[in-house]
Amino acid sequence: MTIEIKNLTKIYNTQKALDNVSLSASQGEIVGLLGPNGAGKSTMMKIITCFIPPTSGEVKVCGFDIFDNPMEVRSSIGYLPEQNPLYLDLYVRESLEFIAGLHHLKGAAKKQRVEQMVELVGLTKEVNKKIGALSKGYRQRVGLAQAMIHDPKVLILDEPTTGLDPNQLVEIRQIIRQMGKEKTVLLSTHIMQEVEAVCSRAIIINNGQLVADDSIQHLSEGGSLEKTFRKITMGN
Ligand code: ADP
Ligand code: MG
Repeated sequence: MTIEIKNLTKIYNTQKALDNVSLSASQGEIVGLLGPNGAGKSTMMKIITCFIPPTSGEVKVCGFDIFDNPMEVRSSIGYLPEQNPLYLDLYVRESLEFIAGLHHLKGAAKKQRVEQMVELVGLTKEVNKKIGALSKGYRQRVGLAQAMIHDPKVLILDEPTTGLDPNQLVEIRQIIRQMGKEKTVLLSTHIMQEVEAVCSRAIIINNGQLVADDSIQHLSEGGSLEKTFRKITMGN
């Protein structure tokens, strides 16, 4: 198992954002994390990536515990946060070289890796532009390239396709599918078709509680994934 979560609870002041959640994911899986706004998806991702601590529970990534080995956890993960924070004044290539440097890549190896990423995410034509000049879809590609530059075993993508146009959607999904072959991908989204298109499994959380964890095929029985989602989260 590359991600192991046991009895995870997060309470912000009085708000319980995660309530005793347990799940696991292994290499080669693309797991969709579904849930209404405020369900706790981003909170779970921030805990897995060591951005915030849980109130209680256990999280291990590639065998490393988030409390005992946070540096190893971080270097095992590529994370695309919900707001995709980027330095808008940097040029695309410059920003990737900067992030590669943070991961201790140097010299020719760094340059080679940056060019590989540019090609992989389809940024070749945009590589000499400032990030601030890119459309939303191309900014997401920069975010994805940054997340993958150190070739992490685990990718955590928080709503990576929100706000993209239909063509960009298809292309970003294609990149994620490609990545999922050899990594563990945890991806949150509101789009059911996206889960059907890229994920092998879905986890549904509602009010901080895990309410479903099953294959897309099983969750689609009785109509569609969307129908199951509505039934579970709204009771109709
Ligand atoms: P999702 O990503 O599924 O929309 P979040 O994990 O962002 O959900 O939020 C889960 C719940 O925790 C929400 O009720 C949200 O308002 C609350 N929450 C998130 N971050 C904080 C915070 N820093 N302080 C207080 N409450 C928070
Ligand atoms: Mg969120």
